[in-house]
Amino acid sequence: MPVSTELFPDESMRPTRVEVDLGQLGRNLQAIRQHVGAAGVMAVVKANAYGHGLVPVAHEMVRAGADGLGVALLEEAVLLREAGITTPILVFGGIAAAQLPIFLRHQLTLTAPSVEKLDLIDQAAAAMGTVARVHLKIDTGMERLGIHYYSAERLLEASLRVRHVQVEGIYSHFANADAADLSHARLQLTRFHEVVSFYEKRSLPTPQRHIANSAGILQLPESHLDLVRPGILLYGVAPSRECPLRLAVAPALAWKSHVAYFKVVLPGHPVSYGSTWVSDHPVRMVTVPVGYGDGYFRALSNKGQVLIRGQRHPIAGRVCMDQIMVNLEWGTAYYRDEVVLLGSQGEERITPEDLADWAGTISYEVLTNINARVPRVYYRTCGEETALSSLPAR
Ligand SMILES: *Cc1c(COP(=O)(O)O)cnc(C)c1O
Repeated sequence: MPVSTELFPDESMRPTRVEVDLGQLGRNLQAIRQHVGAAGVMAVVKANAYGHGLVPVAHEMVRAGADGLGVALLEEAVLLREAGITTPILVFGGIAAAQLPIFLRHQLTLTAPSVEKLDLIDQAAAAMGTVARVHLKIDTGMERLGIHYYSAERLLEASLRVRHVQVEGIYSHFANADAADLSHARLQLTRFHEVVSFYEKRSLPTPQRHIANSAGILQLPESHLDLVRPGILLYGVAPSRECPLRLAVAPALAWKSHVAYFKVVLPGHPVSYGSTWVSDHPVRMVTVPVGYGDGYFRALSNKGQVLIRGQRHPIAGRVCMDQIMVNLEWGTAYYRDEVVLLGSQGEERITPEDLADWAGTISYEVLTNINARVPRVYYRTCGEETALSSLPAR
């Protein structure tokens, strides 16, 4: 990792920032590609690329050879098209009829979760004189989106009759592939294979089949099929404690700030809102300009830790909207010393799992919660060379 002060091309930029190593993201994609062999890789960049920044990450994934991009919302896909990305983009989420012309105008790939939606897509495409690219969505045990596996034949039949739809893919989603017990995931995979056997039985070409999220990629090689859809794994983070990383991937994001203020807090003088923290002896305390208004969970109050001068230090009192106080006890720190909220400093490291455990959530939420008020700074490690660039939050 480069020394972070070298990354601050503009001293006037807010000291609280996220640093993203695009080179590492590219290497993570390569590691996944090697692991899945012949299967294609769709890079999932929804939710601002898990907090890493939608457009810069998508550009990097395309550069590194992703076969497609996956997002949750039409809005995310349109931002990518407006940024000049021409790679296939599958939108996982549900669709409203009024959105259909926008999907089609931008040549986005739609998810058809029912016969009704498929017919709407067909009608919209006919009206625009075009052919819609569609992936059929089968619910094999998540009860979220998609036609149930036990009535899916209706949707597959309907997809043969519509004239303005090209069915490029058929997919499902695991509910429990990150668990130690994989029996439910295996059951979902079996159900999916049964649905898809429709094509073979009728001697029809089978569309691209996909079901594996990050956990499926790691734990169920038989689920890789024609395409995999890694999200959290692309960002170098494990899907769960039960599902360890077995690939050469590494985190690419660090969340940093600096010491904005230093003081000594006297015994009996409580710290922050609600006066929930008080010392019986004098302590050194610093104030750091990050808070729940940036997505640093308030649940970290009196629980979280940060790194300063290579040491872990606890948060004292409640997390405010824009600031936190950190207890150094007898440690030292000076104005503008680097504070690491997430990432490594010296020998120490705070992972998304650490923050998630302290706040009572999962690493996915830690990453996606870092909001647009926090500037993203991009750099690229590739051996010796480190290139710097700074882009706005999107
Ligand atoms: C979010 C999402 C993924 C990626 O999930 P990870 O657990 O982050 O790998 C894949 N497929 C669909 C449909 C999703 O919504």
